[in-house]
Amino acid sequence: MDRGVAVVTGASSGIGAATARRLGAAGYRVVLGARRLDRLADVARSIGPAASFARLDVADPSSVAAFCDAVPECRLLVNNAGGALGAESVAEADEAKWINMYESNVLGTLRMTKALLPKLEASGDGHIVTLGSVAAFETYVGGAGYNAAKHATRALMEVLRLELLGKPVRVSEIDPGMVETEFSIVRFGGDEQKAAAVYNGMTPLSADDVAECIEFVVTRPSHVDIDQLVIRPRDQARVGLVHRQLPGTEQ
Ligand code: NAP
Repeated sequence: MDRGVAVVTGASSGIGAATARRLGAAGYRVVLGARRLDRLADVARSIGPAASFARLDVADPSSVAAFCDAVPECRLLVNNAGGALGAESVAEADEAKWINMYESNVLGTLRMTKALLPKLEASGDGHIVTLGSVAAFETYVGGAGYNAAKHATRALMEVLRLELLGKPVRVSEIDPGMVETEFSIVRFGGDEQKAAAVYNGMTPLSADDVAECIEFVVTRPSHVDIDQLVIRPRDQARVGLVHRQLPGTEQ
């Protein structure tokens, strides 16, 4: 079954890579974008002939334009590229990290959506799926920069849903809790020990857990629009409230 062309941003790692694999297996022709070409090539190889890839930096308008111009048609856009940088308090906020997070999570999503919207509409059955986060509606200490960016992404998607009413394009926001990917390694500047400690004593979601939900969202009939899907690990009740089973405390 040919389900059409799906563009996945941030497909070189984590949720994006897992989603690209799931979509390829579900019958989409997938176009993968991210900055690390070697990693994209590995993911594309694991999918097979249904996959192609190109360099994409969603923070760079000319990179977005070149990437999207080369996509001849598009039925599904997965705005996944993004992430968090640092966990400084507001008092210690690092503006460069805030700008970087706003560029990738918010403006990157805006640029990709704007560039591909005509093709999504022309497909007669388009779908935009954007990775938000529980951080898009729950705040936490040290989260201000990421919270602000994901709250903004959420507002962007809500407005888009209003503006596309009557057009053949669905809009879905996927809001995961803790997912073990390269997210925390990137957030803590490559400090793998600090990143691993985030998941200490608890079972996070895997990238494929989220990808499976995305596959479900995009394979519903065209008249069914899953507006928002919140997915949390059983061990996480809220963004800052996590149950941890530490060694020696097993029951
Ligand atoms: P990840 O493993 O670090 O993957 C992030 C992906 O985004 C990478 O493929 C990276 O590729 C890409 N990316 C970052 N900046 C980019 C840019 N400027 N241009 C193009 N690609 C860019 O993290 P992940 O957990 O899979 O995160 C995917 C999405 O899920 C993000 O939007 C994140 O905020 C969201 N999310 C994650 C979690 C979690 O706990 N992990 C929870 C909720 C939401 P390159 O570096 O190769 O460009």
